[in-house]
Amino acid sequence: MKLKHILLAAIMLCSLAGACSNSGGTPQATATGTAPAGTSRIRLYSVAQKGYIMSDKVIKSDAEWRKLLTPEQYQVTREKGTEQAYTGATWNNHEKGIYRCICCGNDLFSSDAKFESGTGWPSFREPAAPENVTLRPNNSLFVKRTEVVCSRCEAHLGHVFDDGPKPTGLRYCMNSAAMQFVKTP
Ligand SMILES: [Zn+2]
Repeated sequence: MKLKHILLAAIMLCSLAGACSNSGGTPQATATGTAPAGTSRIRLYSVAQKGYIMSDKVIKSDAEWRKLLTPEQYQVTREKGTEQAYTGATWNNHEKGIYRCICCGNDLFSSDAKFESGTGWPSFREPAAPENVTLRPNNSLFVKRTEVVCSRCEAHLGHVFDDGPKPTGLRYCMNSAAMQFVKTP
């Protein structure tokens, strides 16, 4: 017991003097939280530049997204909502162009990959590039489906199913509200 007390006292003295620990003293401990949020770099395909670019991820608070988006856009992209079939702006759009993320402008789909799915939601065979969207297996509601989110800002876009037309056999079932359509010549 006595020895233990002596040791404890010695440790306390050491700590007070700041002499026992190599990392004691300064900056290391204060480094927590200094990694700037929203600056992780990712590789994305840019349709306008016809090639890959490095881009920052876009990370915002719910309050910031609410300011930038309409209530429907917010509900779909940030709360994983689904717009009603046949109500969106682009399910029946046949113009040539690019579909960009409504939240961050990331290029998501080309009109070249759009097809008539008969579902009432804009449907695509493939994304503009595999890197531009992120797939997340989702087993909620006992239904196996794969969620599709924007790789840059993690906006919920829709789901991908394996009953699409050839050659990919995939059907990216998207929400119009999650995308902005930009015409190309
Ligand atoms: Zn995005």
